[in-house]
Amino acid sequence: MVLVVQKYGGSSMADAKRIKNVARRIAQAKDKGERVVVVVSAMGDTTDELIKLAYQISEQPGDRELDVLLSTGEIVSSTLLAMALRAMGYEAISLSGAQAGIRTDATYRRAQILKVEAKRVVKELERGNIVIVAGFQGITDEMDITTLGRGGSDTTAVALAASLGAEVCQIYTDVDGVYTADPHLIPEAQKLTEIGYEEMLELASYGAKVVHPRAVELGELFNIPILVASSFTDSSGTLIHGGVSMEVRNKVRSIAQDLDVAKITVVGVPDRPGIAASIFQPLATAGISIDTIVQNASIDNITDLTFTVAKSQLAKAMRLVEPIAKSIGARECVSDSKLGKVSIIGTGMQNTPGYAARMFGALSEQGINIQLITTSEIRITCIIDESRVEDAVRALHRVFEMEIGE
Ligand code: ADP
Ligand code: ASP
Ligand code: MG
Repeated sequence: MVLVVQKYGGSSMADAKRIKNVARRIAQAKDKGERVVVVVSAMGDTTDELIKLAYQISEQPGDRELDVLLSTGEIVSSTLLAMALRAMGYEAISLSGAQAGIRTDATYRRAQILKVEAKRVVKELERGNIVIVAGFQGITDEMDITTLGRGGSDTTAVALAASLGAEVCQIYTDVDGVYTADPHLIPEAQKLTEIGYEEMLELASYGAKVVHPRAVELGELFNIPILVASSFTDSSGTLIHGGVSMEVRNKVRSIAQDLDVAKITVVGVPDRPGIAASIFQPLATAGISIDTIVQNASIDNITDLTFTVAKSQLAKAMRLVEPIAKSIGARECVSDSKLGKVSIIGTGMQNTPGYAARMFGALSEQGINIQLITTSEIRITCIIDESRVEDAVRALHRVFEMEIGE
């Protein structure tokens, strides 16, 4: 019997009517004779609301308590979905992340899955149950509850699919696939029928939240095809897999945008060995992830060091970096929290000149100032003012003729 893992996101589970709709879709798979494991997100904006509530209670709610609190969102949706299926006459059982054997490290708020001990899931499948697992959460060796980072239910789903040897992991959401740009922003965006893990990983890591980056990483590692499709329609989705044609398309495949960018510049840093380490080591110890790092060529052994962090981590990062900057004799530390990034992505850009020039030209035509640039072999990213990100995506979609489709 074929085993599938299906995942339904927050918008698909937003209210009782939608939960019943999801239950009907799961029932269809069961009726086809498939064994079904389902992973759910919290209903609608529940996670945001719980975070808001925590901060109304305390300025520093603490990550451990927050994780227990946030995990309740997925417990609510998983139990309601199991009830909906049972009301329709199907055998179904809900399991928390811990019960489903999702074992993580102890990095609260963005824990990594270390292993999946899916014994209980297998047992319930053998009993004929549809198994509904609360996404986004796991448990440490100390039996503490963790969460996997925002959007992490996708990762629960792919990890379970890998551990159970599922044929495919189906991610059902409010759009019917992966598009050439966020379809809510660019109505002309085109749906891609397939995309490789590598391109999808860059897209997801650079802001296209349609699939969580860790989920794509695990999909690639365990060779699990991931289908992204709509929970509201039956239209065919986008298949993320490893067998995408290697023919080098002379094309940008997709554009990603991200409004969660803040920048710190340490000005007038003495240019000697050990300086970068002395700045970045304490940030790493504090669990602050750094994205882009740019160091200017030094003049008279003095340089500027710029790096970016998520907006929510700016204050913490500044508190750490300011005293270090002083102690190493840097002139000052300045920050800007109103930035965003726009990226063009496509394996077709590899070894093909001209993409960067076209991108910069398109942005300059819009009067958009580029503050930082980073690249990988298949991506070019520009960090710009957050207020211009939408204009940038529109202009790039047009310039790279992406409305024409595959
Ligand atoms: P869910 O709640 O189902 O997990 P998310 O909100 O996390 O859904 O992800 C789906 C959203 O991702 C879409 O509503 C869309 O606005 C956004 N998105 C961003 N970039 C893309 C893209 N390239 N293709 C499709 N959707 C995208
Ligand atoms: N509910 C969590 C979030 O909003 C996890 C998820 O939706 O995947 O981030
Ligand atoms: Mg999501």
